Amino acid sequence: MKKIKKSYFKKKKVKIPYTVVRSNKAKASRIDITIREMRVTVSKNSRIKPFEFIAQKEDWIIKKWKEFEKLRDKIPKRKFTPGSKWPYKGKKKTLAVRNVPDSFLEKDKIILSGKKVKKNGVKLELERFYKKEARKYFTELVDKWSDKYGVEYRKIYIKNQKTRWGSCSNKGNINLNWRLIMTRPDISEYVVAHEVTHLIEKSHSPGYWGILSKHCDNIKEKKRWLKDNSPSLIFTEKDL
Ligand SMILES: [Zn+2]
Repeated sequence: MKKIKKSYFKKKKVKIPYTVVRSNKAKASRIDITIREMRVTVSKNSRIKPFEFIAQKEDWIIKKWKEFEKLRDKIPKRKFTPGSKWPYKGKKKTLAVRNVPDSFLEKDKIILSGKKVKKNGVKLELERFYKKEARKYFTELVDKWSDKYGVEYRKIYIKNQKTRWGSCSNKGNINLNWRLIMTRPDISEYVVAHEVTHLIEKSHSPGYWGILSKHCDNIKEKKRWLKDNSPSLIFTEKDL
C-alpha cells in the first residue's frame, strides 16, 4: 500500500480531509470514513479515478460525515500536563505530579509519582494509574455480581478495545475496557453486570435481558449513554 495524495473534499458546507491509497491487495475500491478523515482505497485493477469514485458516493459520504458531527463535538481536548483535568468515575480531577513513590488518588486530584513520570512520561504514567484503578474497581464489581448470581468467573482482563466496553469469553473470562474508570460508576457497573450475566446466558436472548433487568435499573438509558458518549471516554484520539 502506498499513500499517494492528501486532499480535501468540499461540498454542501462540509470539508473532509482525505487520503487516496492505491492498493495492490484490495480486491475492490472502497471509502472509509473515520471521525476525523476519509480514506479512499483504490484497487490497482480498478480503472475508476479517485475523484470519480468519490463523486459516485457523494451522498453517502456527506451523510456519514454528518453522523460523526455530534460525536466530534464530544471529543475532549486531552492535555498530558500537570494542572489539566481528567475524569475519574465521572468526576473531574486535576493532574498533579509529586515526589511520592507511587501514583494515587487524592480527593479531587490525581497525583502522579514524580519518579515514575520522569521514567515513563505523564501520558504513560497516567495510563498506568487508570489501569491499576480499573483493575481494583472492576475486580470488586465482578466479585459483587458473580456472588449475587452465585456464578464463577475465571479471570478478569483489563483491556483497551476501540469498539468494545466489555466481553465475556466462552471460557468464563471477563474482559473490561479500562477507560470505563473515567465514567459514572452506574455506567461502568452496568457494563460489568452485563458481562457477568453472560456467565449465565451467553446470548442476548429474552431470558438474558430478563435476568439483567431484574437486577439492574435503567438499562436502556445506560446503553444509550454509552453509545452517545463514547468519544468522551477516549484517552487519546487513537481510541476512536
Ligand atoms: Zn452482551
